[in-house]
Amino acid sequence: MNLGQLRKIAAEVVAREDVKYLIGWKQGSYGYRIAPGFVEDAAGAAELIFSPLCTANLATYLTLVEKLPVPRGQEADKRKVALMVKGCDSRAVTQLLVEKGIHRDEVVVIGCPCPGMVDPALLTEKYPETEETVEVKWSGDGFLLNRSGEEIKVPRDELLAEKCRLCRYPNPVISDILLGEAVEPWELAEDNGVAEVEGKDVGGRWDYWEEQFAKCVRCYSCRNVCPLCYCQDCILDRLNPTWVNRAVNFSENTSFHIARAFHLAGRCIGCGECERVCPVNIPLGRLNRKLAREVRDKYGFEPGVDPEAEPFQASFKPDDPGDFIL
Ligand code: SF4
Ligand code: SF4
Ligand code: SF4
Repeated sequence: MNLGQLRKIAAEVVAREDVKYLIGWKQGSYGYRIAPGFVEDAAGAAELIFSPLCTANLATYLTLVEKLPVPRGQEADKRKVALMVKGCDSRAVTQLLVEKGIHRDEVVVIGCPCPGMVDPALLTEKYPETEETVEVKWSGDGFLLNRSGEEIKVPRDELLAEKCRLCRYPNPVISDILLGEAVEPWELAEDNGVAEVEGKDVGGRWDYWEEQFAKCVRCYSCRNVCPLCYCQDCILDRLNPTWVNRAVNFSENTSFHIARAFHLAGRCIGCGECERVCPVNIPLGRLNRKLAREVRDKYGFEPGVDPEAEPFQASFKPDDPGDFIL
């Protein structure tokens, strides 16, 4: 994508009277860091970038910032929010539309066809973070790092994020403005992570998740970063009744993770943000992808691809098999 074109279009969008601000990516303060940019004018638009480091899903701000209560005596600013999205991010927007978490006339979707992001953990492991900002670009069939003037070409497979290896929708599924040309979807990798867990017997699977959940410090970063964890009254915060106790131990952690996984079944769009932000590296994607696959195989439903779809968890067919439907 041409950065000049991106910045020009972003400046035009934020100049519109019906647009409050634009949320996009900009360079962070050091190393590989990328920061969310809340852009209100042409100067802010000139800082926007789109690179293999822009892995964060900014759709979460549509509910995190935009749904905050308006202080008494103030009027809500009803103008639109413009949002830059990759394919996976656009699925989060679509799913929010399906759930009526947002309305279509509240957003201007700026689609960015996505050739795939680098895995930040793999990147820093191979090329440790520096104090100076590092530029990373797509280059042919790989990534090009510019570290203090030294250019390093890295094959795509060495750094591509797991979510991108498994990505079915690299092009935005909805957009009002599309930046650049659509990318050619690539051959999907095998989901070795889910297969590894599925390959164990029941006891082995229990042991696996026990070991993972025991590590959880219940920081709730995974919940807070998730574009689809936006209930104002989350059961995890409830004290009366208390659904999940505050104690950090295997039992309560397991309740938390199972509750969250089931709340996201048929809703998780696979952006991988929960796993990316987990400070203790719990492979949450394996849990979410397993449930996503069950929903796709058993019910033929895939979240975040059709804005006109009925929400999976809030709909049923009269001829659905099973006597569990009351
Ligand atoms: S999952 Fe797909 S759309 Fe999302 S960052 Fe990876 S390649 Fe891009
Ligand atoms: S981000 Fe990781 S440690 Fe924090 S609550 Fe989620 S799973 Fe637990
Ligand atoms: S559960 Fe994780 S992968 Fe799924 S939508 Fe939320 S942050 Fe993205």
